[in-house]
Amino acid sequence: MHLKHFEPRNEPVRFIVIHSCYSEKSPNPFCVKQIIQMLDELRLSYHFLISRSGHIFELVPDNYVAWHAGESFFPEFKIEKLNKCSIGISLIATESSGYTPVQMKNLIELLNFLFKKHSIEAITSHQHIAPSRKSDPWAFNWDFLRSKLKKTRVKVIY
Ligand SMILES: [Zn+2]
Repeated sequence: MHLKHFEPRNEPVRFIVIHSCYSEKSPNPFCVKQIIQMLDELRLSYHFLISRSGHIFELVPDNYVAWHAGESFFPEFKIEKLNKCSIGISLIATESSGYTPVQMKNLIELLNFLFKKHSIEAITSHQHIAPSRKSDPWAFNWDFLRSKLKKTRVKVIY
């Protein structure tokens, strides 16, 4: 399953932006197929989507720019329009559902894989880089993430 909306990447990947998403229209808000349809309709894309059962869908290859961050600014690095230099990962969750243990476990594995492939400087939240528009990832356990990434040099800024 691939998304339609992406473009060539001309700059190195420096950041990872964490998102959450779900389908408002679907009887099952966690339905991957409905979420992918919704993203296509909204002209949005993530590189990776992690389902409730922990399955990682690679929707846009990371050598392409995905359309996940939109108008954005990372104050600590004074960088705007984060799409061009970031990878977007979305975990399927509602505002109140939280995340399944296997979702978090597989997120950490994915991050460690990406750290080997790219010179990642920081992981951040969509909310942090677009605070007036976005509040995701909702109810995310940043302390857990930070504790799992202690041995890396990657900054966790949310
Ligand atoms: Zn988001």
